[in-house]
Amino acid sequence: MTESLLRARSLRKAFGRTEALRGATIDVERGEVVAVTGPSGSGKSTLLLCLAGILRPEAGEIIYDDRRLDRLSESERTKLRRRHFGLVLQFGQLVPELPAVENVALPLLLDGHPRRDAEGAARAWLERLGADQLATALPGELSGGEAQRVAVARALVAGPSVVFADEPTGALDTVSSEEVLGVLLSAARDTDATVVLVTHDNRVAASADREVVLRDGAVVPVPAELRP
Ligand code: ADP
Repeated sequence: MTESLLRARSLRKAFGRTEALRGATIDVERGEVVAVTGPSGSGKSTLLLCLAGILRPEAGEIIYDDRRLDRLSESERTKLRRRHFGLVLQFGQLVPELPAVENVALPLLLDGHPRRDAEGAARAWLERLGADQLATALPGELSGGEAQRVAVARALVAGPSVVFADEPTGALDTVSSEEVLGVLLSAARDTDATVVLVTHDNRVAASADREVVLRDGAVVPVPAELRP
């Protein structure tokens, strides 16, 4: 029997009259890399944000490690996110006033770790991702690829069980895109982290263990020729 770490059943989420999710169902197994693909507007980002406990669906259920994520209070979800989840978005979303090392240390600082420990761990992660020379740079001084490396380090610094990535290479050229994706996936595999990766790029999706296709807010069967 396979072990699902994260399961979502029949999720519905609307923004005003727009139904972004219309009964989306997905199972993510522990340790796997799942690519969520589908046309623009099909609900990929909304699904990712629901699975990551950032958005709350209006109907359906989300079970993370035997817990009903959708029933937790805002503060319980925040705490769970800090300890268990890492997030990488398309444009890094680094804090512009803080040097890279402090950006990476942020999840640990917010979780109450002493600054020295948090920055030590942040430096170690930057080094591991080949970005130690960026430690003192401000986000505005980084290239897109460098900023995404820093964002990957920040997503991994607290040892998350799941890394959620929404078009993490969507704003990068091909070479930087491959580098950042390589760094993200190899670090996740080394740390046994599960990855949920939203992408519209077939090459990115091909690096995943499995592809889940969304259309009009629901998961549709993957065509046989795309199955691994
Ligand atoms: P995708 O990631 O596949 O492009 P999204 O999940 O971003 O799809 O969006 C699904 C639908 O929900 C789209 O029609 C989008 O315009 C709408 N939507 C997403 N987020 C919001 C929001 N915060 N406010 C209003 N509409 C939204």
